[in-house]
Amino acid sequence: MIAPSQQKVDALVVGGGIAGLQTALDLADQDYKVLVVEKEASIGGRMIALSKVFPTLDCASCITTPKMSSASRHPNITIMTDTEVLKVTQGTEGKPSRVKVRKNPRFVDLDLCIGCSLCEYACPVERPDPFEWGLGATKAISVPFTNAIPPKAILDPEWCTACGACAMVCPTDAIDYGERAQELDIEAGTVVMATGFDLNPVTVKKEYRASESANILNPLELERLLAPHGPYGRVLRPSDGKIPDNIAFVLCAGSRDKSIGVPYCSRVCCMYSIKQAMLLSGAVPMAEITLYYMDIRAFGKGYEQFYQNAKAMGITFTKGKVARIDPVDNDNLKLRVESLEDGRLLENEHDLVILAQGIVPRADADGLGVVLDHDGFVKCADPVAPTKTEGEGIFTAGCAAGPKDIVDSIVEASAAASEAAQHLIRTGVVPVQATEA
Ligand SMILES: Cc1cc2nc3c(=O)[nH]c(=O)nc-3n(C[C@H](O)[C@H](O)[C@H](O)COP(=O)(O)OP(=O)(O)OC[C@H]3O[C@@H](n4cnc5c(N)ncnc54)[C@H](O)[C@@H]3O)c2cc1C
Repeated sequence: MIAPSQQKVDALVVGGGIAGLQTALDLADQDYKVLVVEKEASIGGRMIALSKVFPTLDCASCITTPKMSSASRHPNITIMTDTEVLKVTQGTEGKPSRVKVRKNPRFVDLDLCIGCSLCEYACPVERPDPFEWGLGATKAISVPFTNAIPPKAILDPEWCTACGACAMVCPTDAIDYGERAQELDIEAGTVVMATGFDLNPVTVKKEYRASESANILNPLELERLLAPHGPYGRVLRPSDGKIPDNIAFVLCAGSRDKSIGVPYCSRVCCMYSIKQAMLLSGAVPMAEITLYYMDIRAFGKGYEQFYQNAKAMGITFTKGKVARIDPVDNDNLKLRVESLEDGRLLENEHDLVILAQGIVPRADADGLGVVLDHDGFVKCADPVAPTKTEGEGIFTAGCAAGPKDIVDSIVEASAAASEAAQHLIRTGVVPVQATEA
């Protein structure tokens, strides 16, 4: 929690995903005082929940955790978790911007909690684990996930029965059932919007009937199943715990489709689906794996080779548009596919289906006070300076401005930090070290 005296910062970064953390680190290394505001209970964004990353297949948390740790220990960075940015009001003529935030109650005092998890062991209530997309369970009070930062408990008021078991075992009296939300106004010399993305829901295409089957997954759910410390510890299909042996990926399931309001390409779906197919062929070696696709867009360095490697591993690529998915009696799914090679209509049965859902703006992006483009992502004001927004002193990085992979998100984050630093210099905000020298 920032003290009242700190309610004025050089830079405020909205979002503690990989883009926000990189921006914060770059600005903090130049001795600017940075506040990272993250609405979830931990920093790390989407990346901390991924299994491995394309095109190197490095472990995602092995790359993300050091960045999270560096940001949390940096003397020039303050992190507020459980805190949502509600409104950004740009400062004009060199004046600072004003940012309204709401600090939501965690019901655990972060200064007192030592992350011992005794509360979690004592809690009698199980709830679906949000970090595992409900595929696993956690307690009503728990540390959000193994390498969360801060590594401290959070209590979910929707599940808590106020039985007092957690408070009784807490060695530091950190549980505070009476905590209330608090709104703050923060003055910031510059603001960087790094609010990231959502996936459009698997139910967005009615003809895929995803609400009728537990075996139609979104790709972030599959990331958790593939993670070594995921909900089942191995890949099992959710409806009955069976090891899947015939798995389908449906590409462009939520993008390049005007009928669902997402006419654009989400850029990363081809690559993450190929990655997931490769990881599945290691995790479930006997399984048949098919990707149904319109085109494969392997756009980055080393990506085409990655795609060719997947084909060489025996993964089937079928050029076809999936028209319908129907659940069948044994929990399997029948896909009706129009072949884009010869126009034939195919009917194939699979026991697990992953819909490569489109990347869409965060639901609350509209209303934050930053000008958005026609697609709902943050509008970039200058095509040759893509991190500049329409607002003076307000910049953007990562998926807040549109779908992109991790490499591009990090590059853009450093560019945003550089633009933000130049804005601070122009408006006379001098880094602390420089003043002291
Ligand atoms: C299934 C899947 C697999 C992928 N695999 C790969 C891969 O292998 N390799 C690769 O290069 N890319 C991959 N990607 C893309 C990668 O996930 C993104 O490039 C990256 O996560 C973007 O980071 P970000 O910081 O921009 O956004 P996010 O990770 O979404 O972070 C944004 C943060 O902002 C916070 N936030 C949002 N609104 C507010 C608010 N109002 N107030 C406070 N905080 C807020 C959010 O809680 C979140 O923590 C994958 C994507 C998907 C969907």
